[in-house]
Amino acid sequence: MPRLVKYGYRCEDCQRAVWPATTRTELQWLRDRQHIAREVERHSSAGLDTWMREGLEFFDHHAGHDVSIARHP
Ligand SMILES: [Zn+2]
Repeated sequence: MPRLVKYGYRCEDCQRAVWPATTRTELQWLRDRQHIAREVERHSSAGLDTWMREGLEFFDHHAGHDVSIARHP
């Protein structure tokens, strides 16, 4: 069985990374559309998926930093 390749966000400034349980495509989507996800969160009682919350939290901590999509080593 091949291992699933995991992707995440890495901050190049802090050398920190998170690996939310989702695909590379979704990670890219969220990175480019953080404002949409935050709007949805404000207006939805159910809230966001866990991986989205993890991602947004990471962006909060690394606002203005150089965050890239990384492949899990
Ligand atoms: Zn950072």
